[in-house]
Amino acid sequence: MPHLSSDHGTSATHHTERTDGIEKNMPDSPPNILFIMSDDHAAHAMSCYGSRINTTPHLDRIADGGMRFDNCFCTNSICGPSRATILTGTYNHVNGVTTLATRLDNRQLNFAKLLQDAGYQTAVSGKWHLGQGPEHWPTGFDHYSILQGQGPYFDPEMVCDGRKVQHSGYTTDIITDQSLDWLARRDPERPFCLLYHHKAPHRPWEPDDRNARMYDDVDIPEPETFNDDYSHRSAAAAAARMRVESDLNEQDLKEPVPPGLSPEQEKSWKYQRYIKDYLRVIASVDDNVGRVLDYLDAEGLTEDTIVMYTSDQGFFLGDHGWYDKRFMYEESLRMPFIIRYPREIQPGSACTDMILNVDFAPTFLDYAGVAIPASFQGSSLRPLLRGSTPATWQSSMYYRYWMHGATHNVFAHYGVRTHRYKLIYFYNDGLGQAGTIDERYAPEWELFDLENDPCELHSVYADPAYAEVVRELKAELHRLQEKVGDERYTADVD
Ligand code: CA
Repeated sequence: MPHLSSDHGTSATHHTERTDGIEKNMPDSPPNILFIMSDDHAAHAMSCYGSRINTTPHLDRIADGGMRFDNCFCTNSICGPSRATILTGTYNHVNGVTTLATRLDNRQLNFAKLLQDAGYQTAVSGKWHLGQGPEHWPTGFDHYSILQGQGPYFDPEMVCDGRKVQHSGYTTDIITDQSLDWLARRDPERPFCLLYHHKAPHRPWEPDDRNARMYDDVDIPEPETFNDDYSHRSAAAAAARMRVESDLNEQDLKEPVPPGLSPEQEKSWKYQRYIKDYLRVIASVDDNVGRVLDYLDAEGLTEDTIVMYTSDQGFFLGDHGWYDKRFMYEESLRMPFIIRYPREIQPGSACTDMILNVDFAPTFLDYAGVAIPASFQGSSLRPLLRGSTPATWQSSMYYRYWMHGATHNVFAHYGVRTHRYKLIYFYNDGLGQAGTIDERYAPEWELFDLENDPCELHSVYADPAYAEVVRELKAELHRLQEKVGDERYTADVD
């Protein structure tokens, strides 16, 4: 192995001993990193997370061979902003990608640049969604081939190392083919970091022929909160326009609603149309991830490669009567996060510690033996992955959705979640951010006791029994804002 240059002052060797026998024969070279991310894949549509509605056998191979995190949260539940946080290791008020109408300035530091400096071969294939045009294209990558914007399910035009290239076929397959092709062409003497990022299962959920008839003969169960009436909460939940019953369009449904259905029957019909296509496009992701895992096995790379799978945020799968994401509510806030590295992670393990998307970049750098810059705002997950959570590990997290009133009319909010509670402040103001509406509404608070009300159906903010909890959580919210350097809303006063 050639010496890996590093300007960041840390050793690239991994010889640390463990007593539980997991870490063995550690290589002199840092591990390869295969970072798989899909778009809008909720954890409750993965069998390793106990899905009631589908199976994901190939994704489960990653969980079975490594660790599943049961409390991974995003800091802003929407595509570009979450991706910017993952790449730069910073919150959106720092990296500037607060909404879908903001773009990443690619001169910013990111983990790929640091890995590249340390001798890694770096590439990104598939979804990018951090802006179009040279000033937003990937930096820190030896090679990239990315979709433009959301990208289509079929026949995508992609940007490959600065050139537009027209492809024909199914996008999920194409992204995989390109990833495998790059892996085959790489220098086997140097470690790689590949971002293998799917467009699926983002709207409008268009399956390929292989999976188009899947679930034809079954009814997918409706979620427990499918008929939520949005009472006992702030005005925001009822105002959101992402209801299965009324907001899915013709492109989403792909066929006309049959005549003669009652409103309840129509809502159920729409749910089946939506969820079956959502699960079909996930089946293609699962199949294709299986191809890449098979490649690692066949090439003898499995032991030396960190494989992680996540999605940029969660998604409502008919939960609360919704599709889409954005809210700080559980189904949207949660990210799937499974990670395998046989040399250091106990197979079949699970972790309930709280982790965030801002923690991913420091984790990659830690494994690569690269110093984590002080400007990165998260923490490496490596101690957790080795089974020893630091006593000071985070037990609360800060969330902020900036994109007030846009597409689905979800109001701007921020909040704090602990293991037991969630406090949300709907400040209901676009603050002039790109991609927001001008109307402002009176702020409102919500508090959920997740132990007594895991589905978040009844805010107890005004319940006197929770007055002390409210006081403590507001102090924690403001402490976290200060810690990450964000500003609180002017009307949010102690
Ligand atoms: Ca997304």
